[in-house]
Amino acid sequence: MSHRLEVVTIDGPSGVGKSTISRKLAARLGFTYLDTGAMYRGVALKCRQSGVDVRDERAVADLMDVLDLRLLSAPSENEDVRVLLDGRDVSAEIRTPEISMLASAVSAQRPVREKLTRMQQKMGAAGRIVAEGRDTGTVVFPGAAWKFYLDAGLAERVRRRIRQLRHQGEAVDEEEIFKQVVKRDRDDMERSLAPLKAAPDAVIIDSTDLGPDDVLARMLEVIHNNPL
Ligand code: C5P
Repeated sequence: MSHRLEVVTIDGPSGVGKSTISRKLAARLGFTYLDTGAMYRGVALKCRQSGVDVRDERAVADLMDVLDLRLLSAPSENEDVRVLLDGRDVSAEIRTPEISMLASAVSAQRPVREKLTRMQQKMGAAGRIVAEGRDTGTVVFPGAAWKFYLDAGLAERVRRRIRQLRHQGEAVDEEEIFKQVVKRDRDDMERSLAPLKAAPDAVIIDSTDLGPDDVLARMLEVIHNNPL
């Protein structure tokens, strides 16, 4: 009997195209898409709304005790998941550069990681999900059957992030976005809890010169060649 979970994990740095690929892959497999980054973003927004300093572990822990955060599936394959915070739709509010940075800072806090990891494991317990984030293959679903680490060169990732923000209607300071991408990745990689890294059994894909459909084809090939 196999103990591998019927779960796909996709980890990697910011701007690498994880969301686009994860959504497409989930649709192709008929799996549910689990955007773990959206959950860290929801916590960051909650801190900001409550006037809590994301570096204050005690205050953040108290917020986690009363956190009311829910993910609803996206209306279509091309859209982000819907995020409800205290029953209110905050899907657009959590996608700003400011919340990206706050999410990265708050994600280093132990109470946050413990709670969100538990929630994610519960969501994935029945399998058939595509989980996307920084630690889904290493910490959240170490038993996942198919693990990918998606990477791309820095300049290309910054370009993709800028394009995404413009598409959302955000005013973009290119120099500032460059600095933010560099800082966020460094912080995510260097933190002591669940740092961003490839799981030892992950397939690493460099998407610098690949379009989403090429990446998708490569992943589907790996999955079909390694049945559960
Ligand atoms: O993927 P996304 O850009 O939405 O993630 C926002 C931030 O949340 C990341 O920069 C990272 O600090 C944090 N995160 C995390 N672990 C995950 C997913 C996201 O620490 N599994």
